[in-house]
Parts: sequence; C-alpha cells; structure tokens
Amino acid sequence: RPADESPTREQLEAWDRELVWHAFTQMTEHQPFIIQRAEGCTLYDLEGRAYLDGVSSLWCNVHGHRHPTIDAAIRAQLDQVAHVTSLGMAHPTTIKLARRLVDLAPAGLGHVFFSDSGATAVEVALKMAFQFWQQCEQPQPKKTKYLAFENAYHGDTLGSVSVGGVPRFHEMFRPLLFEVLRLPSPTMYRLPTNVTRENACEYFLNLVAQVLEHQHAEIAAVIVEPLMQCAAGMILHPPGFLRGLRELTRQHDVLLIADEVAVGMGRTGRMFACQQEDVQPDLLCLAKGITGGYLPLAATLATDRIWQAFLGTYSSSRTFFHGHTYGGNPLGAAAALATLDVFEQEQTLANMPAKIARLQEYLARIALHPNVGDVRQLGLIAGIELVRDRVTQEPFPWGERRGQRVCNHALTRGVWLRPLGNVVVMMPPLNIKLEELDRICLAVEEGIEVAT
Ligand code: PLP
Repeated sequence: RPADESPTREQLEAWDRELVWHAFTQMTEHQPFIIQRAEGCTLYDLEGRAYLDGVSSLWCNVHGHRHPTIDAAIRAQLDQVAHVTSLGMAHPTTIKLARRLVDLAPAGLGHVFFSDSGATAVEVALKMAFQFWQQCEQPQPKKTKYLAFENAYHGDTLGSVSVGGVPRFHEMFRPLLFEVLRLPSPTMYRLPTNVTRENACEYFLNLVAQVLEHQHAEIAAVIVEPLMQCAAGMILHPPGFLRGLRELTRQHDVLLIADEVAVGMGRTGRMFACQQEDVQPDLLCLAKGITGGYLPLAATLATDRIWQAFLGTYSSSRTFFHGHTYGGNPLGAAAALATLDVFEQEQTLANMPAKIARLQEYLARIALHPNVGDVRQLGLIAGIELVRDRVTQEPFPWGERRGQRVCNHALTRGVWLRPLGNVVVMMPPLNIKLEELDRICLAVEEGIEVAT
C-alpha cells in the first residue's frame, strides 16, 4: 500500500478490530465505531452520520466538542510552547490555572498538585495523605490505612484500584492490592431491611462513626466520590451523607479525600459537588471535565495544613517524591483555563436549572416503566436501573446486556450512549440545548420499550 494512500473505511475498521486494544472492551465483540469529527454536542462518523453525544465522550466534554474558545486557547498555547516540565520549571499558563482553581475551590484548598488523569489525581491524594501523617507536626505513624466504600471507583492504577470497590472491575487484582477498610456503599436503593430512604443517611453515617471511633488512630484518610458513585452505576448517596462524613472525619482527625473526577466541573449544577453540601475536604481530586475533556490534565488540591507538613530542607526528606512527566502540561492548562472562561462567558451554571428540570420530567415518566427499578439524578447526570422485577428489585442477568440494548436502539435514533451494566447513563455536555436533551431522553425512553 503506497504511504500516501489513505486507508479505506474497511481497512480502518479491520485495524481497529485487530490492532487497537480498547479500554473496558471485550475485543471479540468489539464493533468499530469510528468518529471522524465533532461539532458542539454532535459526533460525526466516517460516513458523515450524526450522533448526539449523550455522555460527553467519557463524561468529560463539559462544553461539548470543538468549542471555539477552547480550540483557540490551545492553538495560542501551541504558538508559545507545548510542554514545560513541572520539575524545576514553570509556565505562566499552568501558574494561572492554579490561581483560578484555588479561587474557585471550596475554602481552605490553597495548593494544587498537577498530574494527568483521574487515577493519578487519586494516587497523589492517597500518597499525600499517607506521608502527611508520617511527618506532620505531631506525627502519627500508625495512620497508614484508608477507609473506602463498596462500589467505589477511583481509577485503574493499583493504588486507585485498592481503594476501589466494584467487584467486576477490581476483584481479579485483589492479590496485588493493599488492604483497605471498607464500608457498604451509601445507597438509597436495595437498602438493608429496617433501613428506609428517610433514615438511610443516619444508618450509613453510623457505620462510619463506629469504624472511626475504634480505628481512627490507624486511618490516614477516608476517600469518597461526593454525592454519587458514578462508575458503579450512578449510585446516589442519601442527602446529608457527605456533610456528615466531613463532620465525623473532622471529629476523629482523619483526612477526607473528595474524588470529584466525575461529579466535579459543573455536573451537579455547582462547580464542585462538595459545594452542594457546603463541605471543605482536605484533598480534592479533579480531572475529566477540567480541560473541557480535551487533554489529559488532572489536579489534586490540598489544604495549607497538608502543604505545611511537606516543608523543610531537602535533606529532611519531607519532599513529596512524586511526579508525572506531563503533570501541569501547558497545553492542558490552556484548555483548562479556557474551560473556566467558558463557564463564565456562557453562564453555564446559571443555565443548568432549566435543563436539570427537563431531565427530571423525563425521568419521572421513565420511572413508571415496569422494568425500571430506580431512576437516579444528580444535576445533569442520570442513571436508570433496569430490573426484571421492580417489586422484588431482581436485576436482569448481567449477560443479557439490557443497558447495551437500550443504547444500541438509541444509536439508531442518532444518539450515542454507553451503559454501566443494567444502568442506562445520561451525562450530556452542560451546554446541551433543550431540544437536544429531548432527543436523547426520547431515544432512551423508546430504547427501554424495545429492550425490555
Ligand atoms: N475517579 C472517578 C470518580 C472516576 O469516575 C474516574 C473515571 O471514571 C476516575 C477517578 C479515573 O479517571 P481517569 O480515567 O482519568 O484515570
């Protein structure tokens, strides 16, 4: 094949099947779906067919695709420099991003460590929390454990998998992982007997309180996905749980790590999910939407108390010996600054209530379907759990792929979605238009009819 000849669609599909090992994909079943370009909330395949992006790529394109402001900021940065290491150097764009993040974040988070993905933002937080207790003013070297929740998802590196708790993703790697104290997922669906939606918050906080009372001396940090555990199937926490968790961790002097990789950057209707319950964590992890979904950049924000514990002479070994080659990459930082600019210019958050309300209307209707066990909404995030029997809450067998069937149908209606098992997920760009949201919701509604 001559080098200047573009591959045909058939060739691209064959190479995609044979050469590219796709993430979270059983390659024997992989159906190539090749996107050539995008505009706003619409993706276009090689034949020019259009698909509404109902999940913001992988929950990251908060302002859609090819946003002129973000595109221009990356181009302008390219004219300056593409990459400057954060080991011994700095770049104005990255410094400005740190300033903006600190100004926007919940109070007390005054320092930013840049990395390159959600998982690395979490690794940084875990290692910072551990090292903090080893060398803070009154060291507590026995504080070496983490408390995490069942069904948590914090990324795919071994540290983040250790604090993860989704059996299907994580169990296989158990022999490689460090031990973590784990409590039940603070859910509001499939509750234990004697627990109702009304007393669920108290029930789950009680479990936390018991562990912290007895083991706080050995726990470095609690890690939580604020308000909703997304990757496990959009598991919504009882209102007040995050606030209660903050109070308990403060009471027992245990650090709180808020992993806002999925729920941060406007998804819930506030810039950060912690702000919904007026919570100030000790460490805050951000990625995905931080660059508008354009480039790999992540941030771990830390309090001054944590920062102070790392200060000293070089020989004292108080340094945080951790870094990634592309941490704080200026191109990513330029995309992130532009993403924050767009939030202001387009009043993204102020425009969300109408969209959130419209999504709620559709979900209320969808909730009446006999095979819908639960609908869960947090801002512009929705999870619809399909069940065989809504009275007994009996799930559909995993292998029947009901969620995927709904998404397959949606695709025939020009809507791209990706399920989590039996949970149909919607997480559209925040700048989606109401009529586009209508199309996504109608495709889901129709898909549920066809797939159940
Ligand atoms: N934390 C949470 C809450 C996530 O939802 C994810 C990804 O979905 C991650 C961490 C990992 O992010 P990344 O895929 O960028 O490593």
